[in-house]
Amino acid sequence: MQIDVLLEHIGTLYTLEGEKRPRSKEALKAKGVRDGVVAVFDGQIIYGGAYPLPEEIQASENTQRVDCTDKVVTPGLIDAHTHLVHGGSREKELAMKIAGADYLEIYNAGLGIYSTQKATREADFQSLYDKARKSLDVMLAHGTTTVEAKSGYGIWDFQTEIKQMQVAHQLNANHPVDVVSTFMGAHAMPAKYKENPDEFIRILTEEMMPFVKEERLAEFVDVFCEEGVFDIEQSRRILTAAKELGFGLKIHADEIVSLGGAQLAAKLPTLSAEHLIAASDKGIQDMAKAGVIACLLPGTSFNLGKGKYAKARQMVEQGVSIALCTDYNPGSCPTENLQLIMTFAALYYRLLPEEILTAVTYNAACAIGRQEKIGSLEKGKEADLILWDAPNLDYIPYHFGVNHVERVWKKGKEVWRKAE
Ligand SMILES: [Zn+2]
Repeated sequence: MQIDVLLEHIGTLYTLEGEKRPRSKEALKAKGVRDGVVAVFDGQIIYGGAYPLPEEIQASENTQRVDCTDKVVTPGLIDAHTHLVHGGSREKELAMKIAGADYLEIYNAGLGIYSTQKATREADFQSLYDKARKSLDVMLAHGTTTVEAKSGYGIWDFQTEIKQMQVAHQLNANHPVDVVSTFMGAHAMPAKYKENPDEFIRILTEEMMPFVKEERLAEFVDVFCEEGVFDIEQSRRILTAAKELGFGLKIHADEIVSLGGAQLAAKLPTLSAEHLIAASDKGIQDMAKAGVIACLLPGTSFNLGKGKYAKARQMVEQGVSIALCTDYNPGSCPTENLQLIMTFAALYYRLLPEEILTAVTYNAACAIGRQEKIGSLEKGKEADLILWDAPNLDYIPYHFGVNHVERVWKKGKEVWRKAE
């Protein structure tokens, strides 16, 4: 068998080989192999493991050889929760935040999520596309090779929702980073339906969702289940309708108030539940039993600056499988950099680097239903690879705020390289 690309003499290789289901407890810890080698042919992994190569695999003069001495190789990172496509940015709010303004004061000044909705509605397809493409470039440079992207800044304005999802689609087709699309029309309760939420839920489930399915604009449906947004019963109705239409399910649960979103996620069950800062002990237990993946977003907690973090350590001890994601959005977490999120997870969640790595690769692949294709460097999987200019895994979250990625391959093709 031939080889297109051969990464050899790898200081430490993390293949993420292991249990074929979302991982927790001891299984969450990725294991490193010294003197590793990865062979790629036709965009796929044909071998990943300790040296030497199996006999039937041979390098030829056409093989591109990459010396990885004293460096780390891992699968490409997967960011399973972002609001990638949106208009505008909100740096104007920073000075207000510094001065102590709360969410409501910011909102009443015409800023906050209102300004993102307005900017997204007013932006044409091309400017939304160009802005999101730039963000994808930044993500790729920091090692992200697959990203989930939610709509949700149009809400009652369905055309804006459609525009967001079409941009995600187009980027998926044109950019090296794969983009997985989620419909989040249930991101906020529109003011004009405040008195009649049932009517909005009817439009959402009977008009918008069937159209999104028909046009294949999204694979998943996500709901913001929170006090003052969609309550437990409304969230259940929306997600049950989504399930019947064949969507995968996600839920923003127990972010601010312990409403019982985690229990609802376990009952349905959803594939993943997001945020979970206020999740109850019972909710955590139920999620562990039901196998719901917790998509945790420590960058959002960090940026909100209130010191409130999800109980990630407890979740792991109790058997919840976790993924770590940026939540990239212009308000609560304006960063594309998943490496920084890895640092936050170490410092604020007290997760170990080998646990964090699984949470941004294999488990994140599970959270978007892609674990058969990506998330580990096993035979037959897509060759999404990172060569890290780092002497060991711990170094990556430890030495924070800078980019440690040296080279990135997507489906076997080199798509990014650090300037010499
Ligand atoms: Zn979010």
